[in-house]
Amino acid sequence: MFDAFRKTLRKFSDTVATVAGTGVTIREEHVDEALDELEMSLLQADVALDVVERLRDALKEKLVGTKVRNASEIKEAIRRALEELLDLPAPKIVPPPETPYIILFVGPNGVGKTTTIAKIAHMLSKMGYRSVVSASDTFRAGSIEQTEEWARRVGARVVKHDYGADPAAVAFDAVKSAKARGEEYVLIDTAGRQETNENLMEQLRKIKRVVKPHITVFVGEAITGNALLNQIRTFDEEVGVDAVILTKLDTDARGGSAFTVTVGAGKPILFVGLGEDPDDLKPFSPKELVEMILS
Ligand code: GDP
Repeated sequence: MFDAFRKTLRKFSDTVATVAGTGVTIREEHVDEALDELEMSLLQADVALDVVERLRDALKEKLVGTKVRNASEIKEAIRRALEELLDLPAPKIVPPPETPYIILFVGPNGVGKTTTIAKIAHMLSKMGYRSVVSASDTFRAGSIEQTEEWARRVGARVVKHDYGADPAAVAFDAVKSAKARGEEYVLIDTAGRQETNENLMEQLRKIKRVVKPHITVFVGEAITGNALLNQIRTFDEEVGVDAVILTKLDTDARGGSAFTVTVGAGKPILFVGLGEDPDDLKPFSPKELVEMILS
């Protein structure tokens, strides 16, 4: 899955191992060549230039000065450094004493928002919690039916209005009815379109004003490449983003996107999507991702 990325990182640790020798403190000249190679490969994997540079600097800072005796210790140091770069404190999505816990999902069209919301409702349902999905994408033809279809599959309730209705009014009704019924979660699905669309951003801000979600989650594709950073930044500036869910990690051959989110955008990754079924969602584990990359 992470072939190209893994190959470079393996080469990187081998190069460091070769030049560092045994029982030495890693110095800048030990890692420079390897970091050059890493940089090239990340750029080829569509990771944005400033993310690559920041990753390079951060990795260098963590490695230089580290005492190592052999190649496996170097690999361990790299593993730790990469894990730390991916491991940002993420909000906990436990229902507050006064339910419901409200999550607003934002992001471009087609990235998997509706599917991800269904996966989350499914996960919460397995934990014994009830979810209400607010069908607040009242723009795209077919979106409400798609939300209903998914909700049926995972046993969640849907609150909907007609197409063209105010997305914030739908969200308001969803929250109101969840309160009345004591349901634990409200998951708000929203429209995508262009991230630059001012009308969309205004709608999203209005939803925020009206229902005051506990967190706003950006849903993005692992396969977006370079554009992912700009997407997150735009939504963050316009609406405010607390955390990210990366979908389609099962189809990402390069794996650089996780670094784009944490190192580039400075946002924690909550979950990763690994397929099209309700169970194909996993909490993000920096350890597992790095394991996959390096092993
Ligand atoms: P939305 O427009 O953002 O709501 O996107 P949808 O939920 O409609 O998903 C768009 C497409 O992406 C659908 O065909 C989904 O089955 C697919 N999809 C969503 N998440 C994943 C994932 O994690 N892996 C894969 N392979 N496909 C996914």
